[in-house]
Amino acid sequence: MTLSFEMTMLLEFMRRVDVAALALLLACAAIASCDSAKSNQAESARIRTKLEAIPLDQKVQFTNDEWKYILTGRQYYVLRRRGTELPFANAYWHTHEKGVYFCAACGNPLFSSDAKYDSGTGWPSFWQPIGGDAVSAASHSSFGGGTETTCARCGSHLGHVFDDGPRPSGLRYCMNSAALKFVKAVGN
Ligand code: FE
Repeated sequence: MTLSFEMTMLLEFMRRVDVAALALLLACAAIASCDSAKSNQAESARIRTKLEAIPLDQKVQFTNDEWKYILTGRQYYVLRRRGTELPFANAYWHTHEKGVYFCAACGNPLFSSDAKYDSGTGWPSFWQPIGGDAVSAASHSSFGGGTETTCARCGSHLGHVFDDGPRPSGLRYCMNSAALKFVKAVGN
C-alpha cells in the first residue's frame, strides 16, 4: 500500500511530536523523582535520628506517615498494615544461625534464635519472646485461630501466636520475616 505524500508527512509529524512529548515527559519525571528523593532522604534521616534518640526502654509512637519514610514497602505492608508474607518465601523461615531478631521498625529485641524452631509452616517460628514484655498479644486481628502479636515498644504488627507450640511454653509465635531484622551473634 502506498501512502499519499500528505499522509506520509502527517505521520512523520505525529511521530516527531510523540518523541518530543515523550522526551519532555521523561525529563519531567526524572526531575520530579530527583526532587522527591532529596526531600525523602532528608525526611528519612530526620525520622531515623528521632528514633535513635529514644531510649530502648521507652515507647515509640510514630504516625504511619513517619514510618513510611524509614520502612521499605514490604516492611510497611506487614508492620503497619498488618500484612502477611507468603510461607516459604520470606527471609528467615529457614534461618538456623545464632543471634537475635529485632523489630524491623523500632529495633526492639524480640526473639533469640535459642527459641526458634522449625514449625513446618514456612514462617519463622519461636516458642517464646526474648523478654516477657517484648511482644504484646491482642485480639485486634486473628489468623487461623491465632492472636495478633505486636512489638510492645512501637505497636507494629509482627504476626500471630498460636497455642500449638512445643514445650515448655506450648506457644508458637508465627512471625513475618519482614517484621524482623536478624543480627548474627558475634563469632557465628
Ligand atoms: Fe517495634
